[in-house]
Amino acid sequence: MENPTEDALKPLLEVAYPVLDRIEIFINPESSGAEPLVLGDKQPFHARPIEHRNFVVPLTLAAGERTWIYLRVETTSSMQVPLILWEQDGFLAAEQARSIFQGFYYGIILVMVLYNLFVFMAVKEQSFLHYVGYITAMPLFLASLHGLAFQYLWPQATWWNDQAITVFLNLALVFGGTFSLRFINVSPSNHPLLHRWTVGVVVAAAVLAVAGLMVPYKYLILPTILLAFITCSTMLVLSIVRWVQRDPAARYYTFAWVFMLFGGMVLALSKFTVLPRNLLTENATQVGSALGVILLSIALADRLEREKKRVFETQQRLIREERKARMAQEKSLQVQREANTKLEERVQQRTRDLEHLNEQLLELSATDALTRLKNRGHFDRIFQSAVVRAYRYDEILSLLVLDIDHFKKFNDTYGHLVGDDCLKMVSQCIQKFITRPQDLAARYGGEEFVVLLPETPMSGALQVAERIRMEIEKTAFPVSGDVVHLSVSIGVCSVSPAKADSTKEIFKWADEALYEAKGQGRNRVVAWNADGQPMVSHLSPA
Ligand code: GH3
Ligand code: MG
Ligand code: MG
Repeated sequence: MENPTEDALKPLLEVAYPVLDRIEIFINPESSGAEPLVLGDKQPFHARPIEHRNFVVPLTLAAGERTWIYLRVETTSSMQVPLILWEQDGFLAAEQARSIFQGFYYGIILVMVLYNLFVFMAVKEQSFLHYVGYITAMPLFLASLHGLAFQYLWPQATWWNDQAITVFLNLALVFGGTFSLRFINVSPSNHPLLHRWTVGVVVAAAVLAVAGLMVPYKYLILPTILLAFITCSTMLVLSIVRWVQRDPAARYYTFAWVFMLFGGMVLALSKFTVLPRNLLTENATQVGSALGVILLSIALADRLEREKKRVFETQQRLIREERKARMAQEKSLQVQREANTKLEERVQQRTRDLEHLNEQLLELSATDALTRLKNRGHFDRIFQSAVVRAYRYDEILSLLVLDIDHFKKFNDTYGHLVGDDCLKMVSQCIQKFITRPQDLAARYGGEEFVVLLPETPMSGALQVAERIRMEIEKTAFPVSGDVVHLSVSIGVCSVSPAKADSTKEIFKWADEALYEAKGQGRNRVVAWNADGQPMVSHLSPA
């Protein structure tokens, strides 16, 4: 270096690749014989003459001075020695731009990490955690590569500084892989081969990341870069396959990976010295990864939104279905209710019909078919309760037993059918005088009838009997041109029963009175008086 000016100069020499292991800088070694200045990331950070992420050497050149500077570089990383000679003013100006760029990048990343971490804590969606893992490992790798991590995070850890590059790059691959599998839904069921391959790549990256804690950097960096290349290509293939299969998440994802892949490829190619090292190739990684990180975050939010929509729609559908089911249930209940009501109505109708029929049946079973008077069965029941009642209330009850006179002869003369008509006529005559509700006339059998008169003393009973007898006597019965008159004999018994079950006695007395009437010449009413003597009624009808 030569200073052709009249003034002393203090330029700065920058070696802009911070992972070089050892740099020895000799200034005029022939004349001075001084010890070289030793730099490199195997020296603690604070040993540098100027504390900068790159190696910056301050030089002094007097006016017109000519100086020889030799560099000896030793490294396990790729051998890049980009040299920049700065004037102090120029260095300060350029450094501002570079600092702002770095601050911008790490600022974006930090915000993204925190934001997505909070989102994860809020929604507990695993994808976010993998994503946070990825966007934490990725910038740590870049910060290690660019000397920032050494400067600010571990300025004393010279061994770890190299290793950190492989560890964080491999961790970025691990999380990038696991995140992708979840995020664009690559599973053993839908892509068995691609899934297995990606899992294999992730496992390899994990093994390399662990190895980075023990195995020296120089053995790991080549396989790591190769694996990074494979992983990035795999992710690209995955995203395109999923996009083709219309996974809505894959769209953003593909763009994000194209950005990041571009940066990664440029970096890898420049490390293998295929691409020249310049401002673009050095910063492409950071620009690409920042854009990718932002896009992926948007994609995650989009996915969350879609998930929310899906859940909402599912809920709506469920609500609709539930409502439908409820309506159907209500309808069927309604139908059931109506059917029940109808059934009930029919049952009630049937019950009414049956009751009616029963009444008819009862009526029928209590009625004598020929004369329409009550029959003997019915009379027996009513007679029994009437006696019980009379006994209990100490009332007088009367019983009339009627028998048509010479009816056998009548039958023999005119025939049974005419006899039947006669029986009907006699019934009507009897019925005419049965006026009180509790009185009862019945056909007892053959041409014998009974009349029960509760709460009726002998005088009343004789009166009723006499009226019946006279009615029958005067009724003319036309038979085949002739006019026939019939007569009846009536036995009366009026008594206040001495026992509750004295029906037989009462009937017997009445029957005996009837015999007495027959014996005295028929067509008359006979009752037993208080002395037990027969008493023929001579009461005239009222
Ligand atoms: P008496 O004056 O002694 O009572 O003479 P009677 O002929 O009526 O004698 P009795 O009471 O023993 O005769 C009953 C007769 O009544 C017998 C039968 O010819 C007739 N008879 C009984 N039941 C019926 C019937 O349902 N229809 C008809 N047509 N005749 C009957
Ligand atoms: Mg008789
Ligand atoms: Mg008779």
